[in-house]
Amino acid sequence: MTAETTISRPTGAALIAQALQQLGVKVIFGLVGIPVVQIAEEAIALGIRFIAFRNEQAASYAATAYGYLTGRPGVCLVVGGPGVLHAMAGIGNSSINAFPMLLLAGSCETHLVTKGAFQELDAISLLAPHTKIAIRPNLDSIPQSLTHAYRSAWYGRAGTGFVDLPADIIQSKSVEGTITTVVPAAPRAGPDPARLSAVAQLLRSAKAPLIVLGKGASYAQAEISIRQLIDQTKIPFLPTPMGKGVAPDSHPLNASSARSTALKGADVVLILGARLNWILHFGDEPKWSSGVKLIQVDISAEEVGKNNGDAELGIVGDINVVVPQLTAALQDWKYDTSSTYIESIQASKVKNEANAAKTAKVVKSPMGYHQIFDIIKNTLHKLSPPEDGNIVYISEGANTMDISRSAFPVEHPRLRMDAGTHATMGVGLGYAIAAHAAYNYPNPEARTGPSNCSKKVVCLEGDSAFGFSMPEIETMARYNMDILIFVVNNSGIYHGDSKDSDEWLKLQEKTQQGEKGGLRSTSLGWEVGYEKMAEMCGGKGYLVRTPEELEKAAEEGFKASVPVVVNVIIESGSAKKLEFAWQKSGA
Ligand code: ADP
Ligand code: MG
Repeated sequence: MTAETTISRPTGAALIAQALQQLGVKVIFGLVGIPVVQIAEEAIALGIRFIAFRNEQAASYAATAYGYLTGRPGVCLVVGGPGVLHAMAGIGNSSINAFPMLLLAGSCETHLVTKGAFQELDAISLLAPHTKIAIRPNLDSIPQSLTHAYRSAWYGRAGTGFVDLPADIIQSKSVEGTITTVVPAAPRAGPDPARLSAVAQLLRSAKAPLIVLGKGASYAQAEISIRQLIDQTKIPFLPTPMGKGVAPDSHPLNASSARSTALKGADVVLILGARLNWILHFGDEPKWSSGVKLIQVDISAEEVGKNNGDAELGIVGDINVVVPQLTAALQDWKYDTSSTYIESIQASKVKNEANAAKTAKVVKSPMGYHQIFDIIKNTLHKLSPPEDGNIVYISEGANTMDISRSAFPVEHPRLRMDAGTHATMGVGLGYAIAAHAAYNYPNPEARTGPSNCSKKVVCLEGDSAFGFSMPEIETMARYNMDILIFVVNNSGIYHGDSKDSDEWLKLQEKTQQGEKGGLRSTSLGWEVGYEKMAEMCGGKGYLVRTPEELEKAAEEGFKASVPVVVNVIIESGSAKKLEFAWQKSGA
């Protein structure tokens, strides 16, 4: 159903803000300047939250994350020219991860185009190939253009809808008009019945079936039907990094800690909302077995049959429609969990979990990755057990993300975000702000876990990843966002390079003198005082070096009502070293 409203529109900016309000937009992420500041101010006057960032890149990342968490496009507002260029990072993030975003940008006055106007950029030509739609409306078509861009971003596989807003349109004084801007949720596509029964038949006959849960299943908010499918059929499941929580990590059929065994041993795999890209090793040998049948369920037809996916078994449809039908088709059947496949998964789980527990208890000084994650997890879980679903984890940084992924169990969907399909470092603080906005203010769209109550956002950031968006701590502080950030500080990208400050200073000296073998490209400043970033804008900072200090900071940080940075000094060089040919040859 659509609604028509007659509005008074004293300016183009007011018309834009009202159209956004009609679309149900509750939050705008952005960074203003002339002329888009007028839109932001009109939106604020209407009660839409405007979260003003320090860099468009982080704002655009936040809008995409908000889209993923709420299941509706996140809105980003930026200036033209450089603002658009910075926000391109978010466009890429939206398209590669299939997160919906409505991007609005200002542009120069229409009559000045080609003359070298203020922040002039042909954003439509630039962005058209990277967005689902790129439109420049005139005054009368503003509401319909915004609606169309919003719908395009949202329907089908999600991406970005872009609207270019020339200054003369934003500033124009105008007359009364009518706007129609309600966009209902997309109609859901269903499966071909013949294909569905063929797939059900194949699953029944499988010796080693597996269900893969991707972030598409999480975005689709399909957890209820997926949990029913798993509980009824007893098929083991494996979440991708952001598919974690669609079914609880604690579920006995969760094969995460036996990932390699589960992949390699499976003969029929039902893939719900995950692409066969690098994250799933393209569905190829040697990670998967040679004869494996990969059944892709995807909203996007062009995904089906890609890489090693079986096009003749793929189902094009919405997981929310396909899964209940598949569950019904398998009603009288369940997988015999006394199989050798389940036995092998169990055996690997026991072995790998024991190893992980042992590694976590290894005490080092300075501390190591596994050790600190174990301390943080135990401290946070005492304050808020995972089954309550009240912590949202945001994780980035090569080792920090990889190692923490299995250290923090997640029991509910959309409670863990990371660098995603593009392995993008620098998304963390924008994502954290988005999660805070999605979960801590009245927002019926952000459903997860047992309740809609407010959640604590916890970031696990490598020191390098943190650096990409450090100034957004000020954004968090300005809006009173009580986000808890652990900076896992090994003084470098990947591993750190120096064992102590003396060694680091020697490398610095070599660099200065132009000698061979100076600071590595992976070196960062030695034990930088990141905690001061929080202190300088009214948050709390902790510099920790010991387990006791970390535990205390984690507990106080969790309870704090301001942004907190816990700067955790860990062993530099404790992670896997990057090796280069010149090192091996001793050159
Ligand atoms: P992961 O990184 O977890 O492996 P991907 O981002 O690669 O997940 O894949 C997610 C997939 O989910 C995309 O191909 C997308 O088209 C699909 N998808 C998104 N929403 C739905 C839905 N409602 N029903 C079916 N598939 C969906
Ligand atoms: Mg590091």
